[in-house]
This record gives sequence, structure tokens and C-alpha cells, in this order.
Amino acid sequence: MAWTCDGGSNAEMVQKLRAAGQFSSNRVEAAMMAVDRGDFSPSNPYRDSPQGIGYNATITAPHMHANALQRLADHLFEGAKALDVGSGSGYLTAAMAIMVGPNGKVVGIEHIPQLVEMGRRNIEKSHGNLLRSGRIELVEGDGRVGWPIEGGYNAIHVGAAASTLPMELVRQLADGGRMVIPVGTAHQEFIQIDREGDKFKQKTLHGVIYVPLTSKDEQLKKW
Ligand code: SAH
Repeated sequence: MAWTCDGGSNAEMVQKLRAAGQFSSNRVEAAMMAVDRGDFSPSNPYRDSPQGIGYNATITAPHMHANALQRLADHLFEGAKALDVGSGSGYLTAAMAIMVGPNGKVVGIEHIPQLVEMGRRNIEKSHGNLLRSGRIELVEGDGRVGWPIEGGYNAIHVGAAASTLPMELVRQLADGGRMVIPVGTAHQEFIQIDREGDKFKQKTLHGVIYVPLTSKDEQLKKW
């Protein structure tokens, strides 16, 4: 993975990510241009690396956000329903919401209540309309079991590494839906799951480093 896409501005960072092949979709570009990482990252917003957001969590690196949006782009169509597990800063929830358009919906689930609030405040800075219209719903809960009330989802993004593939989440995919999720402990892989009827196709993409998808107590142990 390239970690070379630092920019002096959001636009410069996005252009560098595209030039480096981290994404190719014009819709991903439009979403990443519309959602300024400066509203979401407390430090070095345009540096291509994760940044701490408190509570032992990070805002994921820009190249991984770009990668995830590219993998999900065809599933984040106008009117689609999507789930962002471990919504943290709220950045990717907002970018996904731009992609699904006014008739779509994105649920962002986060287990640390202060991060749910932080995500809400960050989105409010430039995209409060997405919250007020209900296009984004931020909920507090254990993302390992998803948010079945709104399922099936056309797209599921998991922003924290599960030790094993959480089947409860997989089952919340709509037919034709896609999930991307980091899986593993010491060594993590980015995994893509495609649902076709009752079949689930799994593809291992590449190695990654994410904070763990875990319990609240475990995450806050040394905080
Ligand atoms: N996608 C976000 C955050 C990535 S860090 C961003 O880029 O800003 C991973 C996030 O997953 C953290 O906010 C962490 O609190 C959250 N998380 C970890 N385990 C979780 C669980 N079981 N349920 C919900 N959220 C979880």
C-alpha cells in the first residue's frame, strides 16, 4: 500500500490518491472532494496516515478510505442502503452518504458514546443536512452484531479488524451486496465478501493494519 499521498489540501490529497491508483471512480472522487478530511481529523488531516481521535481509536488513513470506497463504489449506488461499522470520526459514513444520494441511507454504528458524538459534531461542520434529512443515522452499539433493523445492506464497511469473520454481519448483506472488512489479529487481511443469493464469495485483497473490532472494555483498557 502506498503511503505517499500527503497533500497540502483536501483536493491535493484526493488528486494524489487517484494518481497513485488508490481509486479510479469519479463518484469516489466526488465524495472525497465533498467531504473535507479537515472536518474529521484532529491532526494532520491531509497526511496519508491514520491519526489518533482518542479512546484508542484512529481516523483511518486516506488511502485505505479511498480503497474501501472504490471496492464499494458500485454498491453505493443512488438509493442504496449501507452500514459503516466503527464509524469513529464519521468521515467514511459521510463519504458513503454522499455516494448513495438523497434517496439512500447510511447507518454508522460506533460503540464509544463520545465517538458517536464526535462523529455527529464533525459531520455537522459542513454536512448537517445529511443528519437532519436522515440520510445518515449514527447509532451507539456493538457493531459486531450489526444493525439488523435496517438490513439488508447493499454495502457494509467495517473500519476495525475482526479476529474472525463476523457471520451476523455477513448475513445482513442484501442479495448482490458487498462487505469489506479487515480480518485477523497479529496479521490482518482486507477481505471482500459478495453475496449472491444464498452464496457468499470471499476474496482476500491485501494485508492491512486496523485497530481491533472488540468490546468497549477491551478497547478502553489502557486509555
Ligand atoms: N472508520 C472510522 C474509525 C476507524 S477506527 C474513521 O475512519 O474515523 C475503528 C473504530 O471502530 C473506532 O472508532 C472504534 O471505537 C470502533 N469499534 C471497535 N470495536 C467496535 C465494536 N465492537 N462496535 C462498534 N464500534 C467499534
